[in-house]
Amino acid sequence: MEEALVSALNSEISMGNRPSVLVIGGGIAGLSSAIAHNEAGFRVSIAEKRQKLGGRVWSDEDGIDNGPHVILGCYKNFRRLLRAFGTEHLFKKQDTLNLTWMFPGGKLLRLEPPRLPAPIHLLVGLLKLDLPIKKRLGLLKGSVALRRQLPPTGTTLQRWFEIQKVNRDTQSLFFEPLCRAVMNVEAGKADARLFLGTLRVAFGSSRREGAIWCPTVPWSEIIHQGAETYIHKNHIEWIHSGVTEIIPAGDGGLEAVSFRHGKKKTGFDRIVLAVPWLEAARLSPFASFAKKAIKIEASPIVSVSFPPPRLPLPFHDLLIALQGGEPFHFICRQPGPKSWLTLLAGAATNPHLRTKNDWVLAGSKCLQSFLGKALPLPDNHKDLAEIRRESKATIAATPETADFRPPPGPTNIKGLWIAGDWTATGFPSTLEGAAKSGFLCPNL
Ligand SMILES: Cc1cc2nc3c(=O)[nH]c(=O)nc-3n(C[C@H](O)[C@H](O)[C@H](O)COP(=O)(O)OP(=O)(O)OC[C@H]3O[C@@H](n4cnc5c(N)ncnc54)[C@H](O)[C@@H]3O)c2cc1C
Repeated sequence: MEEALVSALNSEISMGNRPSVLVIGGGIAGLSSAIAHNEAGFRVSIAEKRQKLGGRVWSDEDGIDNGPHVILGCYKNFRRLLRAFGTEHLFKKQDTLNLTWMFPGGKLLRLEPPRLPAPIHLLVGLLKLDLPIKKRLGLLKGSVALRRQLPPTGTTLQRWFEIQKVNRDTQSLFFEPLCRAVMNVEAGKADARLFLGTLRVAFGSSRREGAIWCPTVPWSEIIHQGAETYIHKNHIEWIHSGVTEIIPAGDGGLEAVSFRHGKKKTGFDRIVLAVPWLEAARLSPFASFAKKAIKIEASPIVSVSFPPPRLPLPFHDLLIALQGGEPFHFICRQPGPKSWLTLLAGAATNPHLRTKNDWVLAGSKCLQSFLGKALPLPDNHKDLAEIRRESKATIAATPETADFRPPPGPTNIKGLWIAGDWTATGFPSTLEGAAKSGFLCPNL
């Protein structure tokens, strides 16, 4: 009994000696930062304004994700978070990049690179595509251009196509779906350096880096449940309230933090602000990054989900790139018992699609044109559709935005650090960028 008391006291004392950090925001950046600080010996508290941890990655009670998220083998930091949560096994993992395209009418085209070292595997895979030789040679030429020197700062992807003479088929088949998925902007707006740099990481070093990982369960099981288990096991404090104000101290540091539930907290050695850019600027208008952060442009994602057709689908893939499915670019099968079919529109800025009904009709038309003949859809599928509109899904990865992204880590305010997918991580606004910014924090 006495021994237990002494050990409890010792642990109190050692806890007391540890530096403390408050992470504001329980999305991927905040959770990664919490893991990194915990591993570095900090006492960690997380303040999250919503009921659930995970930020922009969430699923509803029916297990439908707010927008399907896929990851790549090269997402090293994000995979570190999954390992900490014990949820890395909940994915269907490709061995190397396999991509299937679907054309109106249901025709499928498959890229299946052979087991050869990168990037030769990709070149051989492109050459083996079931396409006329001229198109295959165009694709080969385009992917070889990837290895050339990166274009100067400020170049858009469309401009790079012109400089490298990438033909229209190669643009629409290979580069454009990847650009929408990775950058969430169109080629005409995308920052070519950031995009090509990311593709080099994915396709340049090993076959596995470019492999697509799709979740086999709703994302809330992977992130929210994983995070809850982790913070419970590691004695991390979860403050269920939003932060309303960060109060600066007279000496240039930080005095206190106010919460929506009315309380104030003081005494943190470090605060990591891991909230989206506008909120970060609102909470710390006195920090030098704030003026630039408010200029960052957001880019939307819309997804329209339909109940699965009653007959089996003519493909087994979890994710398929659509050719000619505007405004939708991908179709995916939602994990979980419901297996809904989701159409995904990245950079969804089409001015003609305003209401829920507009989107559902567009989705229904798209499904009819891709699957209609192969697979008759039930008449009431439009009535059952679910729509998710995320107006600030990511930051727009344009050359202009690049100037407004501050580096993750310490700011000019003593004790105030920033993390988030909008910081300059070398990645676009993605799960990997968010995780990288969070894991960088304690080491900087
Ligand atoms: C529909 C959709 C599909 C996507 N698909 C992909 C994909 O396939 N692959 C990919 O890599 N990325 C994808 N992304 C992008 C990815 O989800 C984000 O880049 C990433 O989740 C951002 O994480 P974050 O921690 O930086 O920000 P967030 O997830 O926004 O986390 C910030 C957190 O801070 C909290 N917060 C805000 N203000 C306060 C406050 N005052 N006090 C306390 N808490 C506060 C918020 O509630 C939130 O939980 C997608 C995004 C969307 C929306």
